[in-house]
Amino acid sequence: MLIQELKGIGPKSVKTFEKLNIQTVEDLLVYYPYRYDFIKRSNFDSLKQDDPIIIDGTVENIPSIFRFKKRLDRMVFTINTGSNLLKVFIYNRGFLRSKLTPGTMISVFGKYDLKHHTIIASDLRFGKLPEHTTIESVYHETKGLSSKHINQFVLKAMALPLTLPDYIPSYLVEEKGFMNKRESVEELHFPSTIERLKKAFYRSKYEELFLFMLKIQCLKELNQRKRGVAKKIEEEKANEFIQHLPFSLTPDQKKSIEEIKQDMREEKRMNRLLQGDVGSGKTIVAFISMYFNYLAGYQSALMAPTEILATQHYESLKKLLKGKSVNVGLLTGKLKAKEKKEILKKLEDGTIDMVIGTHALISENVNFKNLGLVITDEQHRFGVNQRKNLKNKGQTPDILYMSATPIPRTYALTIYGDMDVSSIKTMPSGRIPVKTYVKMEEEIPWVLSKMLQELMEHHQIYVIAPLIEESETMSFETVDSLYEKMTKAFGKYFKIGMLHGKMKNEEKEKVMESFQKNEIQILISTTVIEVGVDVKNATMIVIFDSERFGLSSLHQLRGRVGRNSLESTCVYITKQKKERLEVLEKTNDGFVISEEDFRLRGSGELFGYRQSGDMNFKLADIKQDYAILLEAKKDAEQFFKHKKYLEEQNHYFKKILDSSMGLD
Ligand code: ADP
Ligand code: MG
Repeated sequence: MLIQELKGIGPKSVKTFEKLNIQTVEDLLVYYPYRYDFIKRSNFDSLKQDDPIIIDGTVENIPSIFRFKKRLDRMVFTINTGSNLLKVFIYNRGFLRSKLTPGTMISVFGKYDLKHHTIIASDLRFGKLPEHTTIESVYHETKGLSSKHINQFVLKAMALPLTLPDYIPSYLVEEKGFMNKRESVEELHFPSTIERLKKAFYRSKYEELFLFMLKIQCLKELNQRKRGVAKKIEEEKANEFIQHLPFSLTPDQKKSIEEIKQDMREEKRMNRLLQGDVGSGKTIVAFISMYFNYLAGYQSALMAPTEILATQHYESLKKLLKGKSVNVGLLTGKLKAKEKKEILKKLEDGTIDMVIGTHALISENVNFKNLGLVITDEQHRFGVNQRKNLKNKGQTPDILYMSATPIPRTYALTIYGDMDVSSIKTMPSGRIPVKTYVKMEEEIPWVLSKMLQELMEHHQIYVIAPLIEESETMSFETVDSLYEKMTKAFGKYFKIGMLHGKMKNEEKEKVMESFQKNEIQILISTTVIEVGVDVKNATMIVIFDSERFGLSSLHQLRGRVGRNSLESTCVYITKQKKERLEVLEKTNDGFVISEEDFRLRGSGELFGYRQSGDMNFKLADIKQDYAILLEAKKDAEQFFKHKKYLEEQNHYFKKILDSSMGLD
């Protein structure tokens, strides 16, 4: 029902309501107050200087008024509360003066000035205060629509015979002793008592979270219904491959591989997240999965977020498969037209068994012959739609997402609730934790001497700048400015290279290759190297202007070093306070760091796109209401299994997934 159908709302008000994102009466009903004021007569004797005061009484004398400037006035009068005479000051209420005749009963809201026995009032109302505490709703206002007006329109809307959809099934409403939906909406707008208001809050939050968890259940179920293929992977060949790897796998890697293999062998489609801190060794797990998929006779695709990373994966995969008759291809946006055409042809006719690429993989004209497995590296960087677009002529491929951004417990449940999760928690053996320092800019000489030490030992160093070019407004280091500085310091004896996103592809690759071969000792870079790059001889990373990055990104950057048994060093340089960064000195545990990041900055930057539209709850807050979330999750799972609903599931899924809080 559109808002203009309410009495008293004309075309002009419709525009005003639109500013608050309210178009329908239903929108209005969930436009909840952001605050509640408790109206209660103050106990006069316990008031201290500057306390808020609410009091009623009669006007004692004719108010005197003082006008200054245009439209500015100050009124003064005395109020008689029955036991006290108090002076009241109030600004800009001069227009009320004629109504404030002696003897008029009024209520005054303001601040008490004990010393002068006066009230600095912010509001005046005619009439006595109510005998019992009342709770007033306060809404975010907009020009032309005051909080009071909104409340009055809500009252009108509540009077309509609308049915408000309740997403909590009735048996749960009963079991939990919840008030019904209408009652709770009414309570949120027109609270009766604190207790009931609290109950209404709880119920409404629960409802949002219940619906959310239900959606996740639906997605999971729908995913599982998508038939994949039951792949035949010969155990012997699989084992043989693993035995001939250049290193032995960690227990968590083995476990993850088993879980993936199991998924691939089943007919249901794999929808799995492989989670592990930077450097924990996810790539090899991906490669092995691709090999299994190959053994079963299917093509695989691995998507990486950057060209550099795609190229690196391509090179290491080729090396790993040396001597085997597996065809590996690389598809990036920067291929020459002819090369690209060639690869596209080979993907379509099945000549290429495994392809590694960037976004280019999901562009319109990429077709596969029989794609059986899709892996996305650093999956949180891809949008949902991008993931969906891989075209396949055969069955639905298995899907594996890899992420090095550890997800706080709370979020794992919600964001990845529709997926199965494999975790790599321990690092490959022999790793020494990276020695980490947070330094102020003044301490750069110390950093330079530390760098020199490393260089003398024939090790290599990353230096990270937040920006590419000079910007006029900001005084941050750039790749260029650091190149200059580093050349001054070390250029005589060591080779220094530069890497940034604006360089041409071949240039980037050439620089990366030189670094890999130790022809370059110091690599100055923007955060393009943030994800995935693997150079074992690099034992030090220096990050300038660290205050510009989130903790999780800083942790990811640190993961570029410490990739073998050499002791590595990470230095975060900052112009501002060090406190925020100190957690990085204290721990190497990506989970702890992401929790801290989350606490400081909210979830936004952790997950980029995904949470944006997904979790815009009106009242619930995933973090604060975690206990309710768990309760709702349990109930939603049980409810989902409920026989009654299985019978009408298809209809029901649609209903849930179409409801206002969209997941994907
Ligand atoms: P990430 O999980 O961050 O993607 P990588 O897959 O790049 O990590 O692995 C980091 C480094 O550890 C690579 O050089 C890789 O070859 C190596 N590595 C992976 N697994 C093991 C293992 N089980 N034993 C020793 N080294 C390993
Ligand atoms: Mg990786």
